[in-house]
Amino acid sequence: MICSKCSEWAIISQRYSGQHLCQDHFIQDFERRVAETVHKNNMVKDGERIAVAVSGGKDSTALLFCLHRILAKRDVELVAVTVDEGIAGYRDDTIKAARAIAEKLAVEQHIVSFQEEFGYNLDEMVQGKKVAPCTFCGVFRKSALNRAAKRLGADKVATGHNLDDEAQSIMMNYLKGDFERLMRFRPRSAKKGLVPRIKPLREMPEKEIALYCMVNEVFTESRECPYANLSLRADVRDLMNCLESQFPGTKQSTVKGFEKIAERAKGSYAQMDLAACQMCGEPCVKELCKACELLHLLRSG
Ligand code: SF4
Repeated sequence: MICSKCSEWAIISQRYSGQHLCQDHFIQDFERRVAETVHKNNMVKDGERIAVAVSGGKDSTALLFCLHRILAKRDVELVAVTVDEGIAGYRDDTIKAARAIAEKLAVEQHIVSFQEEFGYNLDEMVQGKKVAPCTFCGVFRKSALNRAAKRLGADKVATGHNLDDEAQSIMMNYLKGDFERLMRFRPRSAKKGLVPRIKPLREMPEKEIALYCMVNEVFTESRECPYANLSLRADVRDLMNCLESQFPGTKQSTVKGFEKIAERAKGSYAQMDLAACQMCGEPCVKELCKACELLHLLRSG
């Protein structure tokens, strides 16, 4: 298979675009598309300090590497933030990988842990609980990232959510019939106490992110969190992958379809103002933020 743009052998066939791309043209295409996502959504402004959430997995590794390249000529500072949830036999290795990519790019890195922030690691939190570990993990990770970003004086938090993650989240909320939560999925306008989050890889398929890491030699080992298969997301991921292989472009159309729905429904679902949590001061919609609600449950057994 020959590259659609030159006479080199292609390393990828994008079924959804009909293009075959060699290594150089794939890297160019990838970085151009991420730069376009950043530009058209006005994600980054000159003079900003961006806290990049780097877990050491392929998505966040690609995110830091790609942002470092596409923002190299701009007056933007990147700082890596790694959250250690405390998952035995898994997180220690990915933290090493996060440290390695930050060092390679000479990007300042900070590690924050659930244990230090909340007094428990994730393994302790979920032991004997019927709630899916990802529920605890997602709530506390968001809170830890926001707290760390504020301490570091960051203007934005960039996360490695990719097209697959976005399509899965939308589909999960459709399946649960949870329209309120679905509408919260829209990009948030600036709120007091909440460092705005950006997702520069939101249009990039997971497989292309893995390939981008591979051809740039920045990621070697792919391990899955031991809790990943306990969530609804794992089943939805398999379903979406199956649909994508039969009907290329399904993930893109799921995200684009949601954006059209969100645009039409925005008058009925205005974004809520946030208050300060009465326990920790973090932004929340009720009296307590979700993290403090869960901590209260944990402490009361
Ligand atoms: Fe956390 Fe779930 Fe991701 Fe594991 S799979 S790191 S528990 S969100």
